[in-house]
Amino acid sequence: MAFDYDLFVIGGGSGGVRAARVAASEAGAKVALAEEDRYGGTCVIRGCVPKKLMVFASGYSAAVEDAAAYGWTVHSDGFDWMKFHGKLEAELDRLEGIYRKLLAGAGVETFDARARLLDAHTVELSTGERKTAKHILLAMGGHPVKAGIPGEENAITSNEIFHLPELPKSLLIVGGGYIACEFAGVMNGLGVKTTQYYRGAQILRGFDEEARGLVSEEMIQNGVELHLGTNVIEMEKTETGIHVKATNGDKREFDVVMFATGRAPNTADMGLEQIGVELGRKGEVIVDDYGQTSVPSVYAVGDVTDRVNLTPVAIREGMAFVETVFKGNPTKPDHDLIPTAIFTQPEFGTIGMSEEEARDQGPVEIYCTSFRPMQSLFAGREARGLMKLVVCAETRRVLGCHIVAPGAGEMIQLAGIAVKMGATKEDFDRTMAVHPTMSEEMVTMRSPVRAA
Ligand SMILES: Cc1cc2nc3c(=O)[nH]c(=O)nc-3n(C[C@H](O)[C@H](O)[C@H](O)COP(=O)(O)OP(=O)(O)OC[C@H]3O[C@@H](n4cnc5c(N)ncnc54)[C@H](O)[C@@H]3O)c2cc1C
Repeated sequence: MAFDYDLFVIGGGSGGVRAARVAASEAGAKVALAEEDRYGGTCVIRGCVPKKLMVFASGYSAAVEDAAAYGWTVHSDGFDWMKFHGKLEAELDRLEGIYRKLLAGAGVETFDARARLLDAHTVELSTGERKTAKHILLAMGGHPVKAGIPGEENAITSNEIFHLPELPKSLLIVGGGYIACEFAGVMNGLGVKTTQYYRGAQILRGFDEEARGLVSEEMIQNGVELHLGTNVIEMEKTETGIHVKATNGDKREFDVVMFATGRAPNTADMGLEQIGVELGRKGEVIVDDYGQTSVPSVYAVGDVTDRVNLTPVAIREGMAFVETVFKGNPTKPDHDLIPTAIFTQPEFGTIGMSEEEARDQGPVEIYCTSFRPMQSLFAGREARGLMKLVVCAETRRVLGCHIVAPGAGEMIQLAGIAVKMGATKEDFDRTMAVHPTMSEEMVTMRSPVRAA
């Protein structure tokens, strides 16, 4: 049977764009892609990129104070949200343009439309057109979900935080994951009175206990009003804001409430169950190690599979799919030892096992140091950093590396290479320190603080 395309990709985000581009330009495939919203997807339009720009913007309040402490005479008229927002929109337009150009340059035919599946090889577009393809790649990503609390329709999510008509005076963030914590730091840094409720006992569940403990201490020290073991019971819109009743007895009004209480895959009303694509409990597409679904011609990559929901992972999965299906080189994306950064203030960079995870698997030695970074110490700040290595007592391999410090995201990318290569504690120790830096702590921790 002759198909319209070799590959039809649904979703123009990180995973979909990369797969489409590489399949067309490197494997010579005839490729089409449908995007219902803006090209670039979550990462570029409402995730990593605008968030990091807001992290940068929010860092200047402390930088201005520190500049004064270093002897500068500084004049600041405060932060102009609308000025920043205009520049942010222009930057996102520029990036979206680049994504469109990359696809066009690779010869990918694009449809600005929603797509759904009619059968194992046929896609129906919201324009009414039908297209057939030998392979279909699901790359629809995910969306934020609220917590099911009465009145939550008055709250925003991370999708809307980038488009606030004005900077609120007060903000409540509900949630304790990385998105909640990052935006708490951002808004606090921009001068918004920021409160965070998290129903769990500590933020950043799943990460190393000491590291998440320090991040939470530092967030509080920086001015975020963090309430743990606390959730919203109900909320109501008033003339002046949003009135919130919480489990800790709080009855307070906030200008804006944001839920960062999780994300779910975009698989509703896609025709997937009807054609036999197996979905999991959260609606995620179930795939094998190669990204193949239960329907052999249909593959999936990225957040829609709800495995490791990060941009570089979606991209790698997209590339592995092309290797497997179009280059005759079956490739499993490697989900082991993924370095990642949480852009809280201070940043948190991490790779590998937490101390708690590693201990469950065998004897470990823990090397850890907590310190006051030179730059902020001189400016009179109490800020603390932490470097921690979790080492296997038998093989001496570094199983986990956790850094809480300004620039930890940059540091963990490089430390991640060593950990991924299987470096031992002694390999770290053999490496000469770079002085004076914070990262030199990583190679100068002589004795374990404990063995477990
Ligand atoms: C606030 C926030 C901050 C983040 N920060 C980071 C970070 O710092 N680092 C990091 O690595 N990751 C971060 N992420 C996660 C990262 O953005 C995602 O893991 C990544 O974008 C997933 O890529 P994807 O291709 O799977 O999906 P997406 O990028 O979500 O792309 C999916 C695309 O499909 C489109 N689509 C959906 N359904 C259809 C349909 N039926 N037809 C046509 N088009 C459709 C959508 O409009 C979307 O453009 C963040 C996410 C959020 C929300």
